[in-house]
Amino acid sequence: MELEKNLKNYFGYSHFRKGQKEIVEAMLRGDDVVAMLPTGTGKSICYQLPALLAPGITIIISPLLSLMEDQVQSLRTEGIKSVVALNSFMPKEERQDALTSLHQYKMIYISPEMLQVPFVQQQLAKLKISYFVVDEAHCISQWGHDFRPDYLKLGTVKNALGNPPTLAVTATATKEVQKDISESLAMSQPKFHIYSIDRPTISYFVEKHESVQKKIERVEQLIQTLQGPGMIYFSSRSWAENVASLLKSKGLGRVAYYHGGLSTEDRLLIQQQFMNGQLDVICCTSAFGMGINKKNIRFVIHFHYPNDLESYVQEIGRAARDGQPSAAILMYCEEDRGLNMLLLEREQLSDEQLHEFLSYVKSHNSWTKETERQLLQRFNGLDLGCRAILYQLEARGILKDGFVRPFSIDALLLAIRQEQEELQLKKKRKLDLFLRWIRTTNCRREQMLTYFSETVANNFDQCCDQCGALLDRFKKKENVELHLEKQETWRRKLLDLFEQGVTNNE
Ligand code: ADP
Repeated sequence: MELEKNLKNYFGYSHFRKGQKEIVEAMLRGDDVVAMLPTGTGKSICYQLPALLAPGITIIISPLLSLMEDQVQSLRTEGIKSVVALNSFMPKEERQDALTSLHQYKMIYISPEMLQVPFVQQQLAKLKISYFVVDEAHCISQWGHDFRPDYLKLGTVKNALGNPPTLAVTATATKEVQKDISESLAMSQPKFHIYSIDRPTISYFVEKHESVQKKIERVEQLIQTLQGPGMIYFSSRSWAENVASLLKSKGLGRVAYYHGGLSTEDRLLIQQQFMNGQLDVICCTSAFGMGINKKNIRFVIHFHYPNDLESYVQEIGRAARDGQPSAAILMYCEEDRGLNMLLLEREQLSDEQLHEFLSYVKSHNSWTKETERQLLQRFNGLDLGCRAILYQLEARGILKDGFVRPFSIDALLLAIRQEQEELQLKKKRKLDLFLRWIRTTNCRREQMLTYFSETVANNFDQCCDQCGALLDRFKKKENVELHLEKQETWRRKLLDLFEQGVTNNE
C-alpha cells in the first residue's frame, strides 16, 4: 500500500501497471534485476520510483539525447526537479556547472559515451550511488539488434562506482540477449522480471507486392484510407524523403519526413508537429521512434523491413500506446532480401579498409579523443563498424590508458575478420528467421512469441492476417461508412432483384 501511495504522490497514478510493482520491490530489496516490459507500458517508473525513495543518487544510462531530454522534461513537469541529463551536446559551461554539483541531483541521465570521460567518472565516484540503471539494455549485447560498443564498457564503470544494485531494462531481448546483459553488467544473482512482449491491440498484416512501384501505389492507397496518425519506415534517408515528397505532391494528407541527417532544429520541429497532431503521416528511418511517446499512432507501415524480428517488434511497438486497436503492416517484394543483405554487409569494413584502419592505429603511440575523431572522420559512414573494432582493440589491451601497444597488423586483421564473420553469420540467421515470419502461413503472433520463447496467452479477434484479421477495421470512419453505405446499396439492389424474381415467379 505504501508503494501505491508513493506512486500517487510522485506521479499521480493510482495503480501500478503489470510488472512495475514487482520490479520496484526487487530494486528496493537491492537485487540486481533484468527487466523486460513491452514498449509503452511504463518502464521508467520501475527505476524512477526507487530512485526517489533511495537515500543516494541514481545513474541512468540512456542511448539517445532526445530520450534523455524527454524523460527529464516529463519528470520536471511532475514537479521532480532534481534531475539532469548529461550529454555531449550540452553547452560546455552548463555541463561544467552540472558536473561540479552532481550531489544536488537525485537522478542523473547520461549517455554511455559521456560515461567514458575520465573527469565524469571521477565526479561520479565522489557520490553515493544508490542504483545503476541501464535503459534500452539490449544495446549491451552484440547479439542485440541495436548493438552499441560503448554499452559493453558499462560493467567496468559500474564496478568502479562501487557496484551499486543494477537494473537493466529493455522491451525486446531474446533469452540469449537477457543472459548477455546480466553477464556483461557482472550482476550478482540477477532476478529476471520478464513480461510478455505481446501487444494485444496491434494486429499484424504482411503484404507481398510484385515490385517496388506496386508498394508505392499501395502506400498511396493506404494513407488515404487508414485512420491515422501513422508512421512509414524506410531503410534509407533518401527513400523516406522521396516518398514523403511524392505523397505531399499528390496532396495525400499532412506528411513529413524524419531521419538522422536532419538538423537538430528540424528534428525537434517535426517531432513536435507529429506529437501535436499537426501531421498525419511521418516517413522515417529507424532514427525516429525511440522515446516517442505519442499515444494515438494507429498504423505503422514498413515499406522496407528491418533485419530482425526484435527491431520490428520495437518499431511497431510505437503504435497503440493508448490501448486502442492499431495495425502493423509490413510490405515486401522478392528483391528486398538483397537490399537487407547489402545493408548488413555495408556495416562492415572491407579487408582494405580494415588494413588502413589498423595501420592508422599502429602509426600512433598515444591515443586521444582527437586521434579517434580523425579516424572516424576518415571512415565516414562506417561509424558502427569502426566503434566495434575500437572496442576489440581495447578488449585486447592494444588501446589502453591513452597509449597504443605494439601489435601485428596481419595477425590482428585475421582475428578481427574471424570475429566479424561470426557476427555477420549470426545476423544473417536472424534475418532468415525474420523472413520465415514474413512468409509464414501460420499465426504471426504465435510465431513472434515463439521467437521470444513465449506462448500465446489469449485468443484475439483481430490477431493477424493469417487468423482472418481485416485491414477494413482500421479504415477512417468516413471510409468505413462509405463502404457500409455501398454494401447497403448493393444489399438493397439484390433484395429488389430477388423480390422481383420472386414476384415474377409467382
Ligand atoms: P516505456 O515502457 O515505453 O519506456 P514509459 O515509461 O515512457 O514507457 O511510459 C509510457 C506511458 O505510460 C507514460 O505516459 C507514462 O506516464 C505512463 N504510465 C507509466 N506507468 C503508469 C501507471 N502505473 N499508470 C498510468 N500510466 C502510467
